[in-house]
Amino acid sequence: MNLLWAAVGAVLGLIAGAAIRGTVFRLSVASGDPERTECPRCGAPTRRWLAARCRHCGRSLGVPLVLELTTAGVLALLFGRFAAQPDVLAFAFLGTLGVALAAIDIAVQRLPDLLTLPAYPILIALLGGAAIADHDAAAFVRALLGGLALAAGFLLLALVRPGQMGGGDIKLAGIAGLALGWLGWPTLIAGALLGFVLSAVASLILLAARRVTLRSAICFGPFLLGGTLLALLTSGR
Ligand SMILES: [Zn+2]
Repeated sequence: MNLLWAAVGAVLGLIAGAAIRGTVFRLSVASGDPERTECPRCGAPTRRWLAARCRHCGRSLGVPLVLELTTAGVLALLFGRFAAQPDVLAFAFLGTLGVALAAIDIAVQRLPDLLTLPAYPILIALLGGAAIADHDAAAFVRALLGGLALAAGFLLLALVRPGQMGGGDIKLAGIAGLALGWLGWPTLIAGALLGFVLSAVASLILLAARRVTLRSAICFGPFLLGGTLLALLTSGR
């Protein structure tokens, strides 16, 4: 762990966390509902992008500091692990996007296309840049295949067990597969397995606490993202 780069990551994470706050607020609505564009306290219109609080009454959009501190923690770990490697930019992008997606999935059980679909060209471009800098075309091809493989695997799961996996989970799996595949097939398998392990552990805890029943579906996005983060941090490459 490179502590200097971890500190850089923490500072960047605080800024990135503040930057995604307005987007998380706007998109935390049930599927098909219109985006939230009004302050929950005074009803004044909120800015579309980069809004942290209501300009009229000053109310924070969402719980203060949660997104900022979570993103700071995630980016500190990623920068501490990957330091000045060219691929750190791709992982920092995925880390920030992941915090936003996890927050929305926990709030309203969905992973909006508005965030997952544009993430593909951005992540592919960042990994492509890292491949050029590293002269590692093989890793780039593996990343593309990894994205395809994980999305296909989740699509298969969704077909076998309808209701457990949604379309958002499949699209997120493709994004996670890009980053995991870049680091290697063992990392890709570890990330996917860790996602299921984390989800199973959380389900058992929630069952024991009687917060859910065996029939209730809990969102999978945060666990896939958590498994991906763990696999990236512990990858040997
Ligand atoms: Zn207001």
